[in-house]
Amino acid sequence: MRPPGGFPIVCHCLLLETPRGLCLVDTGFGIGEAAFGALPGYYRPLIRPVLSDAEAAHAQVTALGYDPRDVRDIVVTHLDADHAGGLRDFPWARVHLHAREHAAATRPATSADKGRYRAKQWAHGVDWMTYDDRGGETLFGLSAIRPLCGLPDLALVPLAGHSRGHSGVAVDTGSGWLLHAGDAYWFHGEVASPPHCPRTLALTQRMIATDHRERLENLARLRELPAEVRVFSAHDPRELDLAVS
Ligand SMILES: [Zn+2]
Repeated sequence: MRPPGGFPIVCHCLLLETPRGLCLVDTGFGIGEAAFGALPGYYRPLIRPVLSDAEAAHAQVTALGYDPRDVRDIVVTHLDADHAGGLRDFPWARVHLHAREHAAATRPATSADKGRYRAKQWAHGVDWMTYDDRGGETLFGLSAIRPLCGLPDLALVPLAGHSRGHSGVAVDTGSGWLLHAGDAYWFHGEVASPPHCPRTLALTQRMIATDHRERLENLARLRELPAEVRVFSAHDPRELDLAVS
């Protein structure tokens, strides 16, 4: 995607092997997205995605030598169009997410939420698995929701602000923790010390955030994570390069 300012961003999805089968964290845009119909208001003028079928999660799962039908579970950080586009490419998968995000997207109550989400992306009928904050559980100092149904090594980490029920997804790999932080930030410098971010990327994130202050508070918490937690965002190309190299 090409937001203003000359800093291209990516859709960073995670493919996990679990005892239940494959699990995707976020799905990016889907196959045939360009022909699927109009994207929500700000995407074309502001985010300017390059919609490539070869880069869709379904095509990349196949290219890795897996059968897309083995993707039994999907965990989404939130339901913006660049995270939920691939849901229809795996219609047999259960989809796990925070209950607040599910409510905001499927029963939008504000004009901002009505314009933000794209109901067509789940019109095929989704087996939703939703989770409320249960309280009490924490992971590396952040509140956490776990276990997820059938996915004992995964947790939702509520990081609201970008959207109402936006959550990170923590994964216990057996040799350390990964934290897919979704859109809690877009640029690796935002969790660096001292924090820094190209101004245009910071402004674009502020413009899109449901609650800018809450997003900044959660971003500050991410900066305090212990070094052994490998955190990455949904959109930083450098973090994606590091993950695949
Ligand atoms: Zn996003």
